[in-house]
Amino acid sequence: MQKIENYINGELVAPQSGEYLDNYEAATGKIYSLIPQSNQQDLELAVEAAQAAQKEWAEMPAEQRSNLLLKLADAIDSASDDLARAEAIDNGKPITFAKAVDSYRSAANIRFFANAATQFASESHSMGSVGVNYTLREPIGIVGCISPWNLPLYLFTWKIAPALATGNCVIAKPSEVTPMTAYLFSKLCIDVGIPKGVINILHGTGPSIGGPIVEHQKIKAISFTGGSATGKHIASIAAPMLKKTSLELGGKNPTLVFADCDFESTVSEVARAAFSNQGQICLCGSRIYIERPIYEKFKQALVAKVEKLRIGDPLDESTQHGALVSRSHMEKVLSYIELAQQEGGDILCGGKQVSVPGRCEEGYFVAPTVIENLPLACRTNQEEIFGPVCTLQPFDSDDEAISLANGTEYGLATSVWSNNIKRCHRLSRELDFGIVWLNTWLLRDLRTPFGGVKSSGVGREGGLEAMRFFTEAKNVCVKY
Ligand code: NAD
Repeated sequence: MQKIENYINGELVAPQSGEYLDNYEAATGKIYSLIPQSNQQDLELAVEAAQAAQKEWAEMPAEQRSNLLLKLADAIDSASDDLARAEAIDNGKPITFAKAVDSYRSAANIRFFANAATQFASESHSMGSVGVNYTLREPIGIVGCISPWNLPLYLFTWKIAPALATGNCVIAKPSEVTPMTAYLFSKLCIDVGIPKGVINILHGTGPSIGGPIVEHQKIKAISFTGGSATGKHIASIAAPMLKKTSLELGGKNPTLVFADCDFESTVSEVARAAFSNQGQICLCGSRIYIERPIYEKFKQALVAKVEKLRIGDPLDESTQHGALVSRSHMEKVLSYIELAQQEGGDILCGGKQVSVPGRCEEGYFVAPTVIENLPLACRTNQEEIFGPVCTLQPFDSDDEAISLANGTEYGLATSVWSNNIKRCHRLSRELDFGIVWLNTWLLRDLRTPFGGVKSSGVGREGGLEAMRFFTEAKNVCVKY
């Protein structure tokens, strides 16, 4: 059975403990590889390697660092099909999605920040004839990057790239649920000649290696993407250490559909927003609010569209809806569907596990599920399910739509579907979210700030925000 290895000091190595965890193929439920269960000893080796590499990497001219990262982006592009296949097996997502979204964005992330490295500039503040201040932006040193399983290599590279571009060395931990592409990525780092120790990748569970990364004195900042509960725990460890953190957490995102929207395209996009990647994107719109005059018509069109999604083997190019990531996650999603019924919800489509005949018979498939007749206050509408489940509710005014949208502890992303330009801009101001999409969903420009408010996180990723997070600003004051 294939053994995944850690990547420390430029080499692929077994974990010090000799222990491995089983890695499951989501669509078959079968163990297909083994994951190192790393611990403090592995971490010490990685920190030592990062320390040794730090000065040279930080002092390397930005253009040279950029060129190495551009090579890495090209290597991801060349391996794109293999990476997409690995992602589909590990995660259960349709291979077409993995190619178009995961592989594509992983390369784009690295390329974007490779270019940013040569463009990053700092400010100066003139004091007229008295003097001048200028800001030096220096790498933090060794930073930790911890990522989740839903967009494995995509979110892994989204953190690593700005950290490296700004001259930091990285200790990174991918999710133990989907470790494969991070492992393949470490091989690409070797192939393109990333200097040893600059990136170190440690596999294993949160308690075994994630916690030690957060707690390590020599790791000066933590960039984390994952659940809100984990984020709060990480914050409680990092805060007394005065460690810099960027926390990208969960969401319960509302989709606001107004009667004056472009009906057909909105139905398609709202379905895509709810069910892409089996609803396992932190940005998915899982609470759909529809203006009353079009509620029934929109509901019927949406359900008809969702019922047509082709559920099947993620490796089949015609599959549109793959498997959920793990058995435990599937059970969690099914338990929420049961809860929704107990809370009085009516299931309009889906609502159950699906068996895909053939090699995927034992896979973790759940049919895309649409539910109505649930109030805002119920748990189904308050808690993040993170699966192919959405709820529908009518509303009667802009103000009601705003209050429904803002009515959870989360504040990651929202989308508004309307042709009334004044309304769109007014709502954008009133909606308590880090990201507002107007008549679109998941349209991304990597220069923009990315992140959430309330329980959806602290800090922003993307563009300059990420470059600033991974640097310390030092003001130099000169008197003439
Ligand atoms: P998770 O919080 O369980 O795990 C995320 C990562 O943290 C994994 O690598 C895990 O091993 C690690 N981890 C777990 N416990 C830890 C600890 N005590 N110390 C350090 N590391 C620890 O999240 P998940 O189930 O992998 O991912 C799903 C969640 O991620 C959802 O809530 C989703 O909304 C969120 N998410 C957010 C964004 C965003 O950008 N805001 C993007 C994707 C996913």
